[in-house]
Amino acid sequence: MTPNAPTLSPDAGTGFDTVLVVDFGAQYAQVIARRVRELHVYSEIVPASTPFEELLARRPAGIILSGGPASVYADDAPAIDPRVFDAGVPVLGICYGQQLMAQALGGEVARTGTSEFGRTELAIREPGALLDGLGARQTVWMSHNDAVRAAPPGFRVTAATDDSPAAAFEAPERGLFGVQFHPEVSHTPRGLDVLASFLARTGARPTWTSHSVIEASVERIREQVGDATVLCGLSGGVDSAVAAALVEKAVGSQLTCVLVDHGLLREGEVADVQQAFGAHSDVRLITVDARERFLALLEGVEDPEEKRKRIGGEFIRVFEEAARTHASDAGFLVQGTLYPDVIESGEGHAAATIKSHHNVGGLPEDMDFDLVEPLRWLFKDEVRRVGEELGLPPELVWRQPFPGPGLAVRIIGEVTGQRLDLLRRADAIVRAELRRAGLEGPPRPRPDGQADPEHVWQAFAVLPAIRSVGVQGDERTYGHPVIVRAVTSEDAMTADFARIDWDVLERIATRVINGVPGINRVAYDITSKPPGTIEWE
Ligand code: GLN
Repeated sequence: MTPNAPTLSPDAGTGFDTVLVVDFGAQYAQVIARRVRELHVYSEIVPASTPFEELLARRPAGIILSGGPASVYADDAPAIDPRVFDAGVPVLGICYGQQLMAQALGGEVARTGTSEFGRTELAIREPGALLDGLGARQTVWMSHNDAVRAAPPGFRVTAATDDSPAAAFEAPERGLFGVQFHPEVSHTPRGLDVLASFLARTGARPTWTSHSVIEASVERIREQVGDATVLCGLSGGVDSAVAAALVEKAVGSQLTCVLVDHGLLREGEVADVQQAFGAHSDVRLITVDARERFLALLEGVEDPEEKRKRIGGEFIRVFEEAARTHASDAGFLVQGTLYPDVIESGEGHAAATIKSHHNVGGLPEDMDFDLVEPLRWLFKDEVRRVGEELGLPPELVWRQPFPGPGLAVRIIGEVTGQRLDLLRRADAIVRAELRRAGLEGPPRPRPDGQADPEHVWQAFAVLPAIRSVGVQGDERTYGHPVIVRAVTSEDAMTADFARIDWDVLERIATRVINGVPGINRVAYDITSKPPGTIEWE
């Protein structure tokens, strides 16, 4: 390792050229950082309360001031130390950030009386450095009540809208830029170009790629772990799989993985994981067959909360037993913590090495682990790209989010071996048909950059506790229906039912009814979230 090579070791600085996003409470702060990273420049979010000295100590190549709900002229409005504008670091202010810049440098911000929300026409007067190459008119996304009335002295106004006389301004020789609109959202079609122009002015090297992320993580894990033994629980989900693959690459045979098969996984899941971490890798993979144990535990249980409680508790016991038997000497436990978890917990940059003695995934207090968190710098889409680059199979990398209690919460009423079997087979058909139609797996790129309204975030079958009458081969049947649930979503906080083509739905219905004896009806759930949830229990 050369001394300045990226290490992803926060204590020593990451080594990646960094653009800091100062968060003023923006709805889109994470999106700003993600877009910057899409342009291969590492970006981190820091709270608005971060002292100026601390900001500079990070040696950012550039600083982006985010939007925010406050008005810059209000008494308790979050502020920025004005020295940031003279520190020799290029600054881009977005919305609230632009308004802060204007106010700090002698411009004028006020409520204009006309708010702009949503798609807005931007007239570009002179492109300047930031809007270079964009043409005379652009559609941009706005969300504001206040606006910059007058740009600070020495700034050029480069664009305006009907209600924002200074919708973009800049003083490129000072490295200062401001936009009222949101270049980070997909509703601003050329927004990425605007961010790219800013990044070009920062001189930040575009070194943030899956390849370099992997190299830096591996280095960091080796440094942290030394020659100790590491334990990792695999859930069948993408996060734990990628975390394990990174640790494997770093310390190979020091890693022991535990996969608890509670019998509530989807078809092929155990085999997929075994294949990815099986014969051809150095990892010791212990699959615990606990199917009988979980079935016995769920006998007669109908209440959803009771199901979740029992499964969660038992899962920890099984994992703990396996850990004691197979890796009693393990000093480290791998956790799939992602960057959004880090931001939300408010830990931020400084707290990267937490020692956790207990409560890690509910582990008992007398097991003493240090945590290895190789994904704590990554967004979900980056985790997937790293997984692909590490050579994990697409079935694993593009796996949907899956609840811990598994299929048990997709079976209404009692979970039995026979009902699990029905659901698993129907579910496999649902997913196979969606995959065939290109609706599951990697999203298809659309020319306009908008999200595909059909592309599913999660799709699965649900088995309700009812029966209905049907007729098959001239014979009356009294069988089970299944409900198909397929949703689109950005983050699972809200969701919409996927507008799946009728023909695809028809193929699913036909194949399920023909292929799974006992099922004689298929329904499609058209509830969004809210008011529904994605899962049924
Ligand atoms: N609160 C400010 C306004 O209403 C800024 C809004 C924003 O940053 N999106 O103008």
